[in-house]
Amino acid sequence: MKVPLLEIFSSVQGEGPLVGYRQLFLRLAGCNLNCRYCDTKHAVSCGKCKIEKKAGSSNFEYISTPLEIDKLLQIIQENYDLNKHHSVSITGGEPLIHYEILKILLPKIKKLTKSIFLETNGTLPGELQEVLKFIDFISMDIKLPSAAKISPCWESHRKFLRAALSREIYLYIKIVVSSNTVEEELKTACKLIKDEAPGIPLIIQPVTPHNSVKAPTTRQLLKWQEMLLDYLNDVRIIPQTHRALGLL
Ligand code: SF4
Repeated sequence: MKVPLLEIFSSVQGEGPLVGYRQLFLRLAGCNLNCRYCDTKHAVSCGKCKIEKKAGSSNFEYISTPLEIDKLLQIIQENYDLNKHHSVSITGGEPLIHYEILKILLPKIKKLTKSIFLETNGTLPGELQEVLKFIDFISMDIKLPSAAKISPCWESHRKFLRAALSREIYLYIKIVVSSNTVEEELKTACKLIKDEAPGIPLIIQPVTPHNSVKAPTTRQLLKWQEMLLDYLNDVRIIPQTHRALGLL
């Protein structure tokens, strides 16, 4: 089975409560959603993947993708010291659309690293269940239709949350907000979290502005945090820090 790899690089986790940890990022192609603010639109297969062997160098080697699992493992072992990485981050796109490949790949990666971190849009609960036993950390999005400009995903988010909580795992939820975020949607998301997992951290992540997508104001952010704290105990505002640092 071949892996639809798009990028592999060593960098720093730039979002959420694990910000600052060193991770090896494996970015897979493709997604089941099409969010307006997506910053990984390039996450579609183009026949080549980028490998940054020296962290921070921006010197990339390009090889054909998809590539064999053994080839990917060889690249990891030859180029990165996983003892110095908190975890291997499986990201995308939406990595869970490739759950059949992940079922074979993740146990092999698990032998090389301390932990596996999954970054997901939180809409594919059945696929999560297939690979949950290999995962140690989950960063789950809840998508607000107004900000993402997609159809509501409330029920798939609810099912995903239930699936994720069926195993003891470090899980946090991230909601990207923009200047146009609808408060009612934020409340709906919060009630959903309160119903299923009131103790888990909720990260409000202001969108990094681009094209016509504007970041919320400071006043909006603080107002929304206060509003959400009526429902949950752990609500934090954390922007994308890797962008500020010019990291991948
Ligand atoms: S879920 Fe993530 S990768 Fe997929 S379109 Fe939305 S922002 Fe982009």
